[in-house]
Amino acid sequence: MTAKHLVLVGGGHAHIEVLCDLVRAPEPTLRITAILDRRLSVYTGMVPGVIAGDYAPQEATIDVTALAERAGAAVILKAARAVEDGAARLIDGDVVGCDGLSLNVGSTMAPDVPGVSVHAVAARPIATLVERLTAHRSRDARNVVVVGSGAAGVELGFVLKHRLSHPGHSPHVTVVGAAPRALPRQPVRVSEHLERIARAAGVVMLHSQRVTEVRANAVATDSRDLPSDLTVWAAGATPPSVVQGSALPKAADGFISVDRSLRVVGSSSLFAAGDCATLIDESTAPKSGVAAVRQGEVLARNLRAWARRESPERYTQQHHALCAINLGGQRAFVTKYGLSVSGRLAWQLKDFIDRRYIGRSRI
Ligand SMILES: Cc1cc2nc3c(=O)[nH]c(=O)nc-3n(C[C@H](O)[C@H](O)[C@H](O)COP(=O)(O)OP(=O)(O)OC[C@H]3O[C@@H](n4cnc5c(N)ncnc54)[C@H](O)[C@@H]3O)c2cc1C
Repeated sequence: MTAKHLVLVGGGHAHIEVLCDLVRAPEPTLRITAILDRRLSVYTGMVPGVIAGDYAPQEATIDVTALAERAGAAVILKAARAVEDGAARLIDGDVVGCDGLSLNVGSTMAPDVPGVSVHAVAARPIATLVERLTAHRSRDARNVVVVGSGAAGVELGFVLKHRLSHPGHSPHVTVVGAAPRALPRQPVRVSEHLERIARAAGVVMLHSQRVTEVRANAVATDSRDLPSDLTVWAAGATPPSVVQGSALPKAADGFISVDRSLRVVGSSSLFAAGDCATLIDESTAPKSGVAAVRQGEVLARNLRAWARRESPERYTQQHHALCAINLGGQRAFVTKYGLSVSGRLAWQLKDFIDRRYIGRSRI
């Protein structure tokens, strides 16, 4: 059987799983090219820990270029501009032809709220969050506002409070969201537990408030103005430019529509996984690194099956994934099955899981 040429676009969590799988067991029916816009990929679970000062930035990265080369892939270090059945178009106009293609390019943020792109630091793309936060000279910020009260926004509120506090300086941190409570996807008692911890830590949570404008020194909601020297936008996710620029079937949220085998709807040789993909029959499933990793495990098997002309496997969404939030100061909040614990032991568990993931991916 002649090898099929597969192009992997993006070095996100799902493609890291695919590449690790190929290092462990090379696939003679596949010839691979990896199109990567950056040499290093970040592991999302440890990014808040980098902000909190638990880890050096390099501890949260994976050299995806070296990993791809170990998997026998040819690497093109350029961003893709668009993809279609049988080809990827690069940012410089080059075209890479292929038999099959898989996209794992994450998500970004482009909220339709005045002032955000000028005055706020967006939490996505996660790969560049630490650089962008560092570039924003926020060390002496007195008022910090994080917009979004899901797991990412809440976690950023805690770790920024920790990062920006130093002797004689304790910033006023507010997490503001449109939902009626923090972590709205979790049971009420989990939200209440987290909010008690926030009160004790001096992180203010404001609910049922829609942000209408971000200004240089304030965030306006539909009921008040919040002073802010550092505004971080952590609500929602939008498709990255390569997804927007590709004529592929899209879900209502603008992300690529995929079936349970992670194949792009209507195509036999295009795949997508992680944040950039939305399952056709489960369009409200949360976009998370945990889901991207689990999809990557199925994707690895399905790309082999595609090359061997075998039947693909079905991906099933995990409905009770562990949610672990860094609280700063080597403390964490961990919840699963509606139960929650917090403190130093919870951080040690999170740290163990995160370091184990990074260790496994650096094969
Ligand atoms: C503050 C914060 C904390 C979070 N914490 C957690 C957590 O603890 N646990 C969890 O499960 N989820 C967490 N998330 C969500 C998580 O970050 C994302 O769901 C996850 O990163 C998605 O993984 P991915 O593989 O789809 O994409 P990504 O990890 O974003 O990777 C996409 C890759 O594709 C590359 N790329 C993009 N465009 C192109 C292009 N045109 N050409 C080539 N390459 C390209 C990017 O550079 C990147 O390397 C958090 C999110 C935020 C904002």
